[in-house]
Amino acid sequence: MRVVIVGAGTAGCVLAARLSEDPGTEVVVLEAGPHYAPGQWPPELSHAYRIIKETHDWEYLAQAGASPRLVHVPRGRVVGGSSITNAAIALRGLPEHYDEWSEFVDGYDWASMLPWFCAIENDGQFSEAEYHGDSGPIAINRYPRESWYPLLESFAEAALARGHAWIEDHNAPGATGIGPASFNMIDGIRQTPADHYLAPALERSNLSLVSGVTADTVQIHSEAVTHVEGIDDSGQRMRFEADEIIVCLGTYATPAFLMRSGIGPPDAITPHGIPMTHRMDAVGRGMQDHPKVSYRFWVSTEIPEWPHPWIQALLTATCEIDGQERLFQVMPYSGTTQGGHQFTDLNVQVADARGRTGTVDIQGPDPHLQPVLKMGWLEREDDRAVAEAAGSELMALAQTHPLKDVVCPWPNQEDRDHPLRTVETFHHPVGTCRMGRESDPSAVVDGSGRVLGLRGLSVMDASIIPRVPSANTHLCVIALAERLAASFREANGGK
Ligand SMILES: Cc1cc2nc3c(=O)[nH]c(=O)nc-3n(C[C@H](O)[C@H](O)[C@H](O)COP(=O)(O)OP(=O)(O)OC[C@H]3O[C@@H](n4cnc5c(N)ncnc54)[C@H](O)[C@@H]3O)c2cc1C
Repeated sequence: MRVVIVGAGTAGCVLAARLSEDPGTEVVVLEAGPHYAPGQWPPELSHAYRIIKETHDWEYLAQAGASPRLVHVPRGRVVGGSSITNAAIALRGLPEHYDEWSEFVDGYDWASMLPWFCAIENDGQFSEAEYHGDSGPIAINRYPRESWYPLLESFAEAALARGHAWIEDHNAPGATGIGPASFNMIDGIRQTPADHYLAPALERSNLSLVSGVTADTVQIHSEAVTHVEGIDDSGQRMRFEADEIIVCLGTYATPAFLMRSGIGPPDAITPHGIPMTHRMDAVGRGMQDHPKVSYRFWVSTEIPEWPHPWIQALLTATCEIDGQERLFQVMPYSGTTQGGHQFTDLNVQVADARGRTGTVDIQGPDPHLQPVLKMGWLEREDDRAVAEAAGSELMALAQTHPLKDVVCPWPNQEDRDHPLRTVETFHHPVGTCRMGRESDPSAVVDGSGRVLGLRGLSVMDASIIPRVPSANTHLCVIALAERLAASFREANGGK
């Protein structure tokens, strides 16, 4: 069997490694960005102390949501995808939000995802806990409190003084409070699916990686896939025949690829002169993300010089909105010095955002055109209320000793409109090709990632996640890709 994986990002690297374990499967992975072997990464990519928006990025722009601003929504354009440009924060989120997946698709809940979270990790501090793993490919670590920068220590003291619990492990099921964040890094170096899944697997003769190719369309004949068409960096058209095609281009690019192929809502496809192949009204609809709102403060304590970890800890807390407990995160950044001023951004995120009104559309059939992205952040009143409650808690922390002694808020941030005026992405979009049951018109794939109504076509990246977890999504995508790789292999003979 010949499998073509379209996109060598987070999910694509995991799938390439797992599917090529079967010597009877020939696996080809396509990727638009460049390939770096382990140890050959440009320093800004290997170093995980900050996110990368300046290089190796798709430079997507999106409309914010309730306000019409255009904002940059980064995505990695490199073998390894967004796992190479992200902040390497390795969190799972609360179990009950995985339990909500069962409302959409049978067999998915926290209990069924936990073994996969354990299988992918080697937790440096808590490997003996029953809910952690000690032998997976991705190493997880935390910064001990003694190493925290002074502002963070003041933040933690203020959080404890306001009654938030101290927690050692944010990945302990149900934990909320202030404590060290966990990271997929060792000594500041990213531990990624590109280095720890794909690179060792590339030794196998049945796996090949083709980088520098932009995937254009998947071609379908009699409701079954035939091949993928792509364009290399010199403009040459290429064709990749396949028995099975697995799309892993991420939440923005996957629905755009399907629409260019005539798979999606007719009103999103036919105005561009693209013939319809397979009507699916949910492609590119229902996007969820974590809205992030920044609050800026002058800082009078020392700000550590680069290279120093930028994020080391976080606070998770709940507020009550319409009788329901809602989770938010507060993530302090170490800060910046500019023109003699020292300042920092303390960010709040709506961690269990409920809004799913974001959309992805295409501008036309050319794969080099940017997708049209509308994020839908804070369009729901209850999500806005969570953002406001999180902002109020942050301001209260900033007025609590010892944080109040070292920070002073910038003006004009306390009005009710601040979240709407300034909301940005916390980089966790999901749901534009959502998993669901065959009877569900807003589902695109089933619980195995198979596109409903077509043969040989699957989607297995963040776009199929049915409900955004209440945490950063990298670990979730790796765990899900492992699970889907196992079910794909089982369905194809169990090798
Ligand atoms: C700036 C940033 C910071 C983040 N921080 C964190 C964090 O700290 N912790 C965390 O848990 N999560 C974080 N995330 C989210 C996390 O990285 C993503 O959820 C995850 O990587 C998504 O995996 P994916 O496989 O769906 O997509 P990606 O990893 O983005 O992979 C998609 C791949 O497809 C390729 N591609 C796209 N279009 C084409 C095309 N037409 N042809 C060929 N190839 C194409 C891309 O180049 C890319 O390699 C962050 C994301 C970003 C962007």
